[in-house]
Amino acid sequence: RLKEGRALAEDVWSIYNVANLPADCINLGQGYMNFPPPVVEALGVVSANHYSHPKGRIRLREAIKNFYGPQFNRDLDVEKEILVTSGANEGEYAVLTAFLEQDDEVIMFEPFFDQYLPSITFNAGKPIYVPLHPPTSASGKFSSDEWKIDPEELENAITPRTKMIIVNTPHNPVGKVFTKAELEMIAGLAEKHNLLVMADEVYDCLVFDGKEHVRIANLPGMWDRTVTVGSAGKSFAATGWRVGWLIGPASIIKPTLAATTRIVFATNSPLQEAAAAGLEQAKERKFFQTQVAEYAERRQILTDCFDALGLPYTNPEGSYFILLDISKVKFPDDYPFPQSVLGRGRDFRACWFIALEIGVSSIPVSEFYCIEHANIGEVYARFAFCKDLDTLRNAAERFKKLK
Ligand code: GLN
Repeated sequence: RLKEGRALAEDVWSIYNVANLPADCINLGQGYMNFPPPVVEALGVVSANHYSHPKGRIRLREAIKNFYGPQFNRDLDVEKEILVTSGANEGEYAVLTAFLEQDDEVIMFEPFFDQYLPSITFNAGKPIYVPLHPPTSASGKFSSDEWKIDPEELENAITPRTKMIIVNTPHNPVGKVFTKAELEMIAGLAEKHNLLVMADEVYDCLVFDGKEHVRIANLPGMWDRTVTVGSAGKSFAATGWRVGWLIGPASIIKPTLAATTRIVFATNSPLQEAAAAGLEQAKERKFFQTQVAEYAERRQILTDCFDALGLPYTNPEGSYFILLDISKVKFPDDYPFPQSVLGRGRDFRACWFIALEIGVSSIPVSEFYCIEHANIGEVYARFAFCKDLDTLRNAAERFKKLK
């Protein structure tokens, strides 16, 4: 299965890695922060050096119950309905390991976070793509809300082999926050066709402009078929902790626990304690309210910069990514591109050129499309704004060279 799709091709995170780029390139590529986690002092008091329970340390499961319980209107059962994983990615992998049988189909909206594809194929499943249609008019500033699903296309993609739909909201890389009506439509089809839903909500704490983050698990009838994925890395600006969690019914959590136990056995103990401290203190410190305001300010620096350049982009309602339309960015065909970039779409070359000549790295968006649809994504580069204000202001200054 390693031979399927792009699994053996160099992944985008490795190509646009700081190690391959000039030392002074500003990294707005991979979505990780260049500032310390606000709850980092929690690490200082940690003394947890032995194996965690495979379900996760009880302090963290209790903290998840207390923080998320009200959001799901449920008294979450820490033994049966919460599972701590080694990052959200591993949790998603474990769900797929637990549920997929040979050739089971998993529907995802395209563009999709690239890890889903190998996570499905490594587990013998078949990815099925339903487009998120980009806004069509030729120029301007779009809202991520203007990227739309066609309900008919979704229903037509469902077959007797469909096992699951992955719903990523807020969405990476588009930044779309799915509306209640859209989620009700998806939920209706999941019920009608008896499908599981994996709700990847790792950016749930990063929703802007008063937009409401709706959890599909909370829609009528959906709790029993939905597993919701969360992430300490995204919530606490600590992507290196590799701590995530799954919340869902015992019927999903139990087989997934069996899978995760055999994949990683247990998640690292000390950083579970740190994540627990973060969740415990979040409310009193108004941590997430402050954080969302900070990210909105970060977003503004890049959107002001793109407005000044007159380049179209998608203004995200959630997450920390902006899709910039790079179709008008010119570069010489004979530029010394590395081999890893030459075999790929125009966006791979454009992102390489922008990294080396402008000094700002980004991620080419065709990576978030299947090979057959890569041309749709070639129009965009994804810029991450989970960086400190000075870094973003420097990047905006450098962008003036693009004019
Ligand atoms: N989720 C982050 C991003 O989209 C990191 C991706 C990764 O490390 N694979 O940038």
